[in-house]
Amino acid sequence: MKMHVVPKVRGFVCTTAHPEGCARHVLKQIQHTTSQPALPSGPKKVLVIGASTGYGLASRIVSAFGAKAQTMGVFLERAAHGTRTASAGWYNTAAFEAEAHAIGLYAKSINGDAFSEAVKRKTIEQIQHDWGGGIDLVVYSVASPRRTDPKTGNCFHSVLKPIGNPYTNKTIDVLSGTLSTVCLQPATPEEIAETIAVMGGEDWMLWMEALMEANLLAKGVQTVAYSYLGPELTEPIYTKGTIGQAKKHLEASCMLLQQKLEPISGKAFVSINKAVVTQASAAIPIVPLYISLLYKVMKDQKLHEGCMEQIYRLYAGWLYPQTSPLPLDKGGLIRIDNWEMRPEVQHVVTELWDQVNNENLTKLTDLIGYREAFYHLFGFEIEGVDYKQESEIEIPIPSLTKKSISPRVFPGS
Ligand code: NAD
Repeated sequence: MKMHVVPKVRGFVCTTAHPEGCARHVLKQIQHTTSQPALPSGPKKVLVIGASTGYGLASRIVSAFGAKAQTMGVFLERAAHGTRTASAGWYNTAAFEAEAHAIGLYAKSINGDAFSEAVKRKTIEQIQHDWGGGIDLVVYSVASPRRTDPKTGNCFHSVLKPIGNPYTNKTIDVLSGTLSTVCLQPATPEEIAETIAVMGGEDWMLWMEALMEANLLAKGVQTVAYSYLGPELTEPIYTKGTIGQAKKHLEASCMLLQQKLEPISGKAFVSINKAVVTQASAAIPIVPLYISLLYKVMKDQKLHEGCMEQIYRLYAGWLYPQTSPLPLDKGGLIRIDNWEMRPEVQHVVTELWDQVNNENLTKLTDLIGYREAFYHLFGFEIEGVDYKQESEIEIPIPSLTKKSISPRVFPGS
């Protein structure tokens, strides 16, 4: 079906996505990877769980186009239906697969609930059938507001709240460009437990155990899950809040995984990534104001990075370095947030945070850059796309339709 696709923003999400815009955005990310030195010692068979947007998509792109790896991507996305566009992650994956297949790279996808036993089983069967084993990298990059426990069927919801005391601070409505004060009430013990059940390390562990049991992991396999720490400024809502508790559980799971992988000389890591605009981070109160200031300061200091730059640096510096790997921090974590956390960055962000108000908002923050990055997530405001034209919204994901599809050719790309 062909139609005009326009952004429809509800709160912190856009309910529409633009097919060509998403495809071009993916192509740009691929071009960033191919403009970097190749990763000859990179992975060969990669499973990415949470592979369709944000950090997971970047990991799939760096694996495929930086290291020429075969990739299997798991995600939960929506196909187009009637006049409803598909979700951005759907269009991203359709474009990614078409580009990978065009250069002869294996790329298959599984769309479904990664927390379920059924999706784990389906993924394992597909890998057994196509690869027989030999996975040398598993990336876990799921961000979800809910999880159904595969054993009990109970549905847990994650909340983004402080713990112990209410927390009041500035927040921003990025799209209307207004600053206000928000007071967040502390989470209940049940809410903390549910957030850990959704965003902690349990599901990562279940995936790794299932893959190990099926004998699909190569000797020397690496697995990495993503986390965030951030500065003191966002501590009450992040590190010391409900999500921080879940991330602590993720780190503890990593240590257990490390032991389980020892017999096959495998390694498990948690990588602390930089704050970037993604669908997940847009949902956290207060954090979008921090990111708007951070983007401003890091761009001014020529240190700005998005998901692609971050993940390329993770592979080149820590996971698959040409010389010795860069050090882990004293807690054993990979710190690709090291540029964000530089004192000269944080010092300026903190100063600006104290000064920012509704009058100086556009001057002190990179609100424009934040908004642009937000629209880009859904394929809007992408250079070279003619948004006046109608778009075919029913775009198939090649591996989910069994048809081979040519990549889109854009003028000048
Ligand atoms: P995102 O929203 O862009 O991506 C989430 C991915 O999870 C998508 O591929 C989505 O399809 C998938 N997903 C969600 N629910 C699923 C389900 N039930 N089954 C299968 N797939 C499902 O998020 P992101 O910001 O890239 O976050 C990924 C990870 O990176 C998270 O652990 C997050 O905490 C971490 N991280 C994010 C930031 C940031 O600033 N965005 C910073 C540091 C770390």
